[in-house]
Parts: sequence; structure tokens; C-alpha cells
Amino acid sequence: MSSLQGRGTDGHRAPAAQGGLLDAKAPGDGPEDAAGVRAAEAVGAADRAFASWSAMAPAERSAVFLQAAHLLLRRTDKIVDVMAAEVGARAPWAAFQTKLAAQLMIEAAASVTRPNGRVTPTETPGACSLRLRVPVGVVAAITPWTASVLLGVRAVALPLALGDTVVLKPSESTPLSGGLLLQEVWEEAGLPHGVLSVVTHGPDEAADVTRRLVTDPRVRAVSFTGSTAVGRAVGVEAARHLKPAVLELGGKNSLLVLQDADVDHAVDTAIVGSFLNAGQSCLSTDRIIVHRSLADRFLAALAERVPALPRQGPGWPAEADGRIVHAGTAQRVSALVTDALAKGATAVTGTGAVEGNGTLIAPVVLTGLTPRMAMWSEEIFGPAVAVHVTDSTDEAVALASGPPRGLTAGVVTGDWATGVAVARRLPADAVHVNNRSITDGLQAPFGGIHESGFGRFGSSAGTDAFTEPRWITLGAE
Ligand code: NAD
Repeated sequence: MSSLQGRGTDGHRAPAAQGGLLDAKAPGDGPEDAAGVRAAEAVGAADRAFASWSAMAPAERSAVFLQAAHLLLRRTDKIVDVMAAEVGARAPWAAFQTKLAAQLMIEAAASVTRPNGRVTPTETPGACSLRLRVPVGVVAAITPWTASVLLGVRAVALPLALGDTVVLKPSESTPLSGGLLLQEVWEEAGLPHGVLSVVTHGPDEAADVTRRLVTDPRVRAVSFTGSTAVGRAVGVEAARHLKPAVLELGGKNSLLVLQDADVDHAVDTAIVGSFLNAGQSCLSTDRIIVHRSLADRFLAALAERVPALPRQGPGWPAEADGRIVHAGTAQRVSALVTDALAKGATAVTGTGAVEGNGTLIAPVVLTGLTPRMAMWSEEIFGPAVAVHVTDSTDEAVALASGPPRGLTAGVVTGDWATGVAVARRLPADAVHVNNRSITDGLQAPFGGIHESGFGRFGSSAGTDAFTEPRWITLGAE
């Protein structure tokens, strides 16, 4: 029996996918394990494709990526339609992601021709000692529903460029935008069959397929993007099988508004950070920690501006016919707000009531949260935010250090040096000073610390994650 346990406390998974990994069937458990069999077949195809793909000339490999980027952009309208149908994504949000995903493909193409390895000193005159990185083989990539195109490309582009082959398992909510459409684009661009395989599955099969992929001996490395609860289970199982894993998990992100901040700028930053895409981003701000001297002005501005967020427009919440993905997700966010209000929190705006077709919630701002409330520590992943008022920067840093999550944070201050000093103290991988807290950098080594995961997708850290070392010596004689 596996030690995987996929059910966790942060609970924002699509209800359909909540089967614990412990419940997964063992490989070969019988004919009903159809998705597991498809997963094994995909791994077999990737394994067979590895030798020729990893040996392909770098310029040829890079050409496939450039063409794939071009084809992806040409499909923007289709992707927008698919993402609207799959998860209710707004058109500008989906188009923006598609553009970023194409840029990631181009960035990955560049990595094909970067220098790889180094020469190290030897004790023997004339001998040579090389440290190289070689592709690991088959990588299993498991991805979430959110930002499906971008995160699907992020999970597979670098490993493919480095010469690995990949089996991609998108979320059951985004089989097309997070998987099959990407495979179609890459294969049309010239990627040989089997180099990228996509395994889609039904709502109750996430645990089976994931387990099958992680435990398959032909899979040499794992990447997982999703919630901390499922990621923890995936990481434990990968470790049990002694496989490296990159885990990109949930956040509990804070924005600090320091005493010397420009309030207008702080309000702009807060609104985008908390409500872009209805708060459904791992980078969303869950907690705004504002200095008491600015609190009244700051809260008054939020009370005025947040209810007026456009009901139709780029990426904003509460679009008239919009959705927050699953009714279960709306219920969960609603329950977090209701729990906080019942335990004494105060609403600056919003009620947390589910409206419309059952998947809409008007944006919520709360104050007066205490640790007794689930919203204090759980990732919200929806259009709600808590504002905390503090008397000092030390108090603000202590509050932001509360939950053991470390994905991103923001600092608004009138003094850059203070911003950098505070950023160094905050337990988050990415800290944005006077910048939008939802900020992505294609060349940056993106990832989390603490319970937000480990391993990186971009830059040289990403290269290390999807290659393995070879120490090669050449004798002097
Ligand atoms: P999720 O953890 O529910 O699902 C992620 C993947 O795991 C999906 O492919 C899903 O099918 C699979 N899965 C779900 N339950 C499983 C189980 N019991 N056993 C095995 N596999 C299972 O996450 P989600 O709801 O799709 O995405 C939202 C979460 O992802 C949030 O926590 C968000 O912060 C996080 N996220 C993190 C990043 C990052 O880069 N750090 C990026 C985007 C999203």
C-alpha cells in the first residue's frame, strides 16, 4: 500500500479530485484501472522516445520550440474559448497567459544552446575533469487547473528542451487547455511522437493516475504544481521511490503596507494582488498588513473601490455571467468568509454569499481576523482578503511569518532601502517591493520555500532539476 495521502487541510481542490492517494489502486489492479493503464502506456511511449529525442541536434530541437511558440499564439482565440468553457476564464486573462506561455517556449528554446557543464581542476597534470549535466529521461508532470496553459507549458518546456521526455497529467478540469491542445501544438511543430504524452482522466481518477506515474520505475523525475496537501503526498511518494521532485505548491501571501507608503499606490497594488482572476492565483494576496497610521484611509479606499470593480472586464471577479470554477470552490470560499464573520470578523465589503449560477461571489474584504478562524491560516484562492492593522514593521513581519508558506509577498514603502531590508526578513521566495505582488518573471527561478514547495522551474536551478550530473575524467596518458 502506498504511503501517499492526498487529502489535506487547505482543501481547494476540485471536489471531484479529492480521493486521497491512499485510495488509489495499485498498478495492475484489474481492468477497471483504465486510466492507470493509459498512464503506463504513455510512460512506455516516453521511455521509447527518449534515446532519439535526447540525441537530436540542439538547433533542431530549438527549432521545434520556436515553431510551437508561433503555433500556440496563432491558436489564441481557440484557447480563449476552451478556457472559458473549461473553467470560466475571462478572455483577456486567457489570452495573456497564452502569450506568456509562448514566451516561455522561446525561453526554453534558448536553453537548448546554452553552455552545459564545466571543467574542474585535477591533481594530475594533463588530465581533464568534466562536470556535465545530462537529461534524466522520463519526467512526470502533474499540473493544476489554474492558469492551465501557462503552467502546462511551464511544467514541460524546460525538461523537453533539455532532452527529457515528458508525460503530462493536467487537471481533470482542464484536459484540453492544460494538456491536449499543448500536445497538438508541439507535435504540429515537429515534436516526435511519444516525446510529450498527455494523460487525461475522469473526475475520480486523479489519485490513480498520479500514483501510477510517480511510482513507475521508468519515470526518473517528478514535477507537481498544485495544492500543498496533494503536493506533500506526491513529494513523499517520490521520495519513497528515491526520485527527485519539483514541488510548486500553495501560498498564503502577504502584502505589507509600511508607515511611509503612498496609500493610493498601496490600494492599487492590493486590489490587483487580491482580486485579479477572482483571487484564483497561487500568487494572490490573502493578507494585507497595514500600518495603523494609514489604516483608516486604506480601508476607506478599499470599501469604495472593491465593490465597484467592473462586473465585466479583464480578469476581474464577479463578472455577471462569470464563474469561480466549481460550485464547490465557491462554497469553500463562502464557508471561509462565513466562519470568520461568525467568529467576530468585520466585513469592510462583501458577504461571502454565493450568487448567480452558484459559482459567483462578490469580492470580500474582512478585518479583525483571529487564529480561531480558518481564513487566518488557509489559502483562500478566491475573491476575499483579510486586512490586519499593526503598529510596527516588526509586528507586520511577524504576522506575515505566521503560516509556514513561502511563495510570494509584497512591501509598499516610500524608501527602497527599507523595502529591501524588509524583503530579506520575509519568509517568501519572491518579494515584490512597490510592485504588483502578482508578478512573474520568465527568466526568474520561480518556486516556493517552506510548505510552498521546493525546486525551481526557471534558470539554472530549473536546469539542475531536470538533468542529472556526470563527472567524467580523461586521463593524462
Ligand atoms: P490540486 O492540488 O487539487 O490539483 C493539482 C493536480 O493534482 C491536478 O492534476 C489534480 O488532478 C491532481 N490531484 C488532485 N487530487 C489528487 C489526489 N488526491 N491524488 C493525486 N493527485 C491529485 O490543485 P488545484 O486545485 O488544481 O490548483 C490550485 C492549487 O495549486 C492552489 O493551492 C494554488 O496555490 C496551487 N498553485 C501553485 C502554483 C505554484 O507555482 N506554486 C501555481 C498554480 C497553482
